[in-house]
Amino acid sequence: MTVRTRIAPSPTGDPHVGTAYVALFNLCFARQHGGQFILRIEDTDQVRSTEESEQDILQALRWLGLEWDEGPDVGGPHGPYRQSERKDSYRQYALDLVTKGHAFYCFRTPEELDAIREERKAKGLNPGIKGDLELPEEEVKRRLEAGDPYVIRMKVPENGVCEIEDMLRGTIEIDWSQVDSQILLKSDGMPTYHLANVVDDHLMEITHVLRGEEWINSAPKHKLLYEYFGWDMPVLCHLPLLRNPDKSKLSKRKNPTSINFYERMGFLPEAVTNYLGRMGWSMPDEREKFTLDEMIENFDIQRVSLGGPVFDVEKLRWLNGQWIRDELSDDQFIERMRRWWFNEEALRELVPHIKGRAEVFSDVATMASFMFSGMLNLKPEDFSHNKLDEAQVKRVLQFTLWKLEAQRHWSKENIFADIKTLAKAMGLKMGDFMFAIFVAIAGTPNSWSVMDSMAILGPDMTRSRLRHALDVMGGFSKKETKRVEKEYAALLAE
Ligand code: GLU
Repeated sequence: MTVRTRIAPSPTGDPHVGTAYVALFNLCFARQHGGQFILRIEDTDQVRSTEESEQDILQALRWLGLEWDEGPDVGGPHGPYRQSERKDSYRQYALDLVTKGHAFYCFRTPEELDAIREERKAKGLNPGIKGDLELPEEEVKRRLEAGDPYVIRMKVPENGVCEIEDMLRGTIEIDWSQVDSQILLKSDGMPTYHLANVVDDHLMEITHVLRGEEWINSAPKHKLLYEYFGWDMPVLCHLPLLRNPDKSKLSKRKNPTSINFYERMGFLPEAVTNYLGRMGWSMPDEREKFTLDEMIENFDIQRVSLGGPVFDVEKLRWLNGQWIRDELSDDQFIERMRRWWFNEEALRELVPHIKGRAEVFSDVATMASFMFSGMLNLKPEDFSHNKLDEAQVKRVLQFTLWKLEAQRHWSKENIFADIKTLAKAMGLKMGDFMFAIFVAIAGTPNSWSVMDSMAILGPDMTRSRLRHALDVMGGFSKKETKRVEKEYAALLAE
């Protein structure tokens, strides 16, 4: 048997460090067994998936040195590797399950389903949807002929225990009563994650599925689907979730989670990969600094420890410093700096803004330093403004942060539109609103167009600076946050 593993990202946002971490472990596991590592794009959610996000994910994983043997960009014998390009094939699998009696047509409206959930709850049952929704054959036929919209759901046992074997966790028991009659095919004809994922893992001959522990609850549905289809199930391994230093689940609200952020900050990809390799795993000799090749050579999945690994940016900085000092010659250092942002391309983006403002080249360093910086050295006083009080300034920063967190197409025009909407909704003049944004992004209200700066700095650095500015201003307490969230929702609803 050839070991085949995969990473199967959904391209619905920034390239997440969690994706890179899971990709790294899949890669090491495959390589160590002389197997193959596949990249598959799971873009069945056509509303949330974007091409931009897919490109970003591929680019970020490559930047980290994680190369795949088969994938949408490199091809391979099991293509296409993008689920949207395979979408017509899934329907037949769902229909086969209906024919075999393992799945059924469901015509219920969302309102009807809500009522059923309520009823089940009142009876003390798990409110999930179960197979009792199945209609008599005649009725199904009639409604199909009438062209009524439907989904296809899989049948699941009402009671009993599902046993899932996990490479790290042993046998996991999940009560069938906790598992819904999962939708396999949506009313628009697209498969859900569960159907597409199982069909593709089978067709792509995946032997081992290493993925985040947030997928454990999906495992019973997948196990059942493999049984229904009569296919062998890949070996499962659920890796521990990455955590913030406060042990909560790693989230972009508390920590930069995008690989792009780390690139923009000037981390070395080798150091980031090295650090990800230390998430729940260690070298047999416990050394902290190691290369990807060394990790592959020494990889042993059984050395993964399940205690939630903490992704701590300060530790990563320290490790990065070790890499810079020990591993880069002076020439390499220069070369890496150039590849980072000290290059012609980056300078060219700045020229339109600096050329008209500089009298001598030495002006450029001060004027543009914020474009090459990480978090700025700010003080609360930097944000004092003659028209806006502290509470308003904090709202400007927080609302902009939230608005930009939801911005999926990063461009100067879209950032401008978002900010204009907010300023108008808050009844503030653009100039007054922009003051805090200037300070947060450029460190001073007297810079060139901050919209341009944000566009060039990118979403991750922009959001991190806004978050940092809020921290400098003391942020909001938990209680205040609730109130401010409500204000924000009301603002946008107007
Ligand atoms: N598309 C899923 C994700 O975005 C894949 C989960 C899995 O590995 O099964 O994480």
